[in-house]
Amino acid sequence: MLAVRGAPPGVQVVEVDEPDGPWELIRIRSASICASDYTYLKYGSTKILGHELAGTLADGTPVAIEAIFGCEDCEHCAAGDYNHCPTVPTTALGITADGGMSEWFRAPARSVVRLPDGLDVADAALVEPTAVAWHAVRTAGTAPGMRVAVVGAGAIGLMALAAARAMGAAEVSLEARHPHQVELGERLGATQPSGFYDVVIEAAGTESALHRAADLARPGGSMGVLGVLPPGTEWPQHVCFNKEVRTVPSLGYCTHDHGRDFDQAAALLASEPDLVDALITHRFPIEDAEEAYRVAADKSAGAIRVVVEP
Ligand SMILES: [Zn+2]
Ligand SMILES: [Zn+2]
Repeated sequence: MLAVRGAPPGVQVVEVDEPDGPWELIRIRSASICASDYTYLKYGSTKILGHELAGTLADGTPVAIEAIFGCEDCEHCAAGDYNHCPTVPTTALGITADGGMSEWFRAPARSVVRLPDGLDVADAALVEPTAVAWHAVRTAGTAPGMRVAVVGAGAIGLMALAAARAMGAAEVSLEARHPHQVELGERLGATQPSGFYDVVIEAAGTESALHRAADLARPGGSMGVLGVLPPGTEWPQHVCFNKEVRTVPSLGYCTHDHGRDFDQAAALLASEPDLVDALITHRFPIEDAEEAYRVAADKSAGAIRVVVEP
């Protein structure tokens, strides 16, 4: 079968054996390219890429796959916080273990999540990054009636905006760099930032965005940090101190008192076809994955999420 392997600085489409073993066999239908894939390539990854995955089981059931899952045995897994499981740093699919940008894939049953009606499997690679955004917006303390701001208007920022609206925020503002992003944000119901916010989500992964997020938080508000900031990033310590801004870093997704982030992300996408349309800008067959990775890296091509279809 065909698979997409890291071949730094790019990727390569290779022929590999079909996967074997006890895990659930899935025919992959959509696998999207994440900005973090380029970080793994920068650090020399030669693993099979793909952590944003959806496909069908042998009986045709459409599913998405959690790239982050736990051992089912430790205290964190018992509490549903499998993103805190000590095994995650070595088992994350497409990150520290081989991923599923391939025709066939096997994933543990506990990480296979059935799709809701209304979400096409061809779009459902988006569930994984949407769950990441959902988790951050939720853990930062978003509640009905709040004012929420999102800094960064890439895919994750747009997903965070939609998540905040779904959680009942009274107003959601989007700080975007490019005019087409501002327009897209407005189409999805966002306003332009003004004043202070109960919750601010940093979704750009840059030092300047982190500082802007801290500036936008109200005294006693909170700042959810969704971006993966580079080592050595300077923290807006003074601003956070002066306003007692609660800072909540975010990693992956888990279950909680009111459900499972992954299910809630899938439901959000099923209810927001406009969001799905806005997010997926390009599709490529797996044979053209090298070109897909070039397009996804080229901001001037207007790429938001690029989907590879094995
Ligand atoms: Zn990702
Ligand atoms: Zn565990």
